[in-house]
Amino acid sequence: MTHDPNCLFCKIVAGQIPSKKVYEDEDILAFHDIHPWAPVHVLIIPKRHIASMADVTEAEVALLGKMTALGPKLMKELGVTNGFRHVINTGPDGGQEVLHLHLHVMGGPRPWLKG
Ligand code: 5GP
Ligand code: ZN
Repeated sequence: MTHDPNCLFCKIVAGQIPSKKVYEDEDILAFHDIHPWAPVHVLIIPKRHIASMADVTEAEVALLGKMTALGPKLMKELGVTNGFRHVINTGPDGGQEVLHLHLHVMGGPRPWLKG
């Protein structure tokens, strides 16, 4: 499925729900998390609907590499100089709330709310 009309992050990709975007290309969108756990907290998502890491196949390897490598660039642009975390939650026991694959990238001075 490319676009799921009931999916929150597909709606953000489509511009139906506003977001504070920090990066966009043909495959990827990055925006600030609405409830940040850290001083800087962005979500990097594929534009195409992929529900979770449990749905990832060999076909997504390049896409995931691109998403992962974007994190450090965004942290630098957003002024993070002292380290950051990449986190992907998967499924109920993984704490995933939004069923559209997303990479959390968090940084900034501690203490943080979570993580
Ligand atoms: P999860 O628990 O699924 O890994 O994380 C979902 C994340 O999406 C949470 O950190 C939550 O704050 C964020 N989030 C949920 N709804 C929205 C929204 O409408 N806009 C933005 N920017 N972030 C959202
Ligand atoms: Zn989606």
